Amino acid sequence: MNVDPHCSRCGASVESPDHIILHCPFTKAAWFGSLLAFRVPADDQFSIQDWIEGWHEWGKVGKKRFKELSCYCTFLAWSLWLARNALMMGRAKMKPQEVLQAAATAYHEFLNCLSPPHSQDRRPNPMTSSIAAWQPPQRPFILLTTDASWSSDQKVCGLGIILRDSHGALVFAKTEINSFDSIVLGEALAIRLGLLEAISEDVQFLKVESNNQQVISYINNKNKLAPLTLQPVIADILHVATYFSECVFTFIPREANVVADSLARKALSTMRTTVWPLSTPWLKEMCNLPTMCSSHLNE
Ligand SMILES: [Zn+2]
Repeated sequence: MNVDPHCSRCGASVESPDHIILHCPFTKAAWFGSLLAFRVPADDQFSIQDWIEGWHEWGKVGKKRFKELSCYCTFLAWSLWLARNALMMGRAKMKPQEVLQAAATAYHEFLNCLSPPHSQDRRPNPMTSSIAAWQPPQRPFILLTTDASWSSDQKVCGLGIILRDSHGALVFAKTEINSFDSIVLGEALAIRLGLLEAISEDVQFLKVESNNQQVISYINNKNKLAPLTLQPVIADILHVATYFSECVFTFIPREANVVADSLARKALSTMRTTVWPLSTPWLKEMCNLPTMCSSHLNE
């Protein structure tokens, strides 16, 4: 057995529990790629205890959600520990996404055990308390979903856009940072950005979904006058929409807009414009689990 005190993944001099569960670069990648999009603080003194003490913040979004999130974190921490043991024993060298998958499976199984047998078939996705099923578009349409996320501290807004086909497969995903002082304007800019990217991707039939009812109603109802700051962007959207063979705009509830919402929040956490490779693990994971909750966990 390996008794070397160094971390066998990154070579850090002391492989402490804090290192394994929080600070190893491998672990950080897993946390960031998880549904929580959690960024482990760079400070090495940040301990598991500090982290768990911070969980009480989730209580603000409700007792049930607190239980779900703390449970998910526990299983991910546990899976990171098992992955470390598997590596040490020479059994397996798991990738972060494999650890995430193992954690998700264990978590789902655990919650299913807690529910009465007759309700197991109907148990919703455990990370979800309000399910709004995401629907892929009908062929030949490509679906564009967009969202904006605002950070009052940094006075910036993150835009997230994602294109998916009728099989739900990822076609294109981008995050962008912008600065403005109204979330409605952000939502409109996200739609405009998405339309321009859809043109670049040679999309002909486009269905656009946003969880901002106000912006969608300004686009769909030309008699409804938007606020002055919004008017140029709405005009751009209507103009760009004419480049498609068909382009429809629809409102969706926030719960069904989870992936775009996560992208918008990623923009804020990375603070840069990114075109996400289609192989991005967390993005693939989210696209496969389209009803995941959209709590603002990393704020
Ligand atoms: Zn390490």
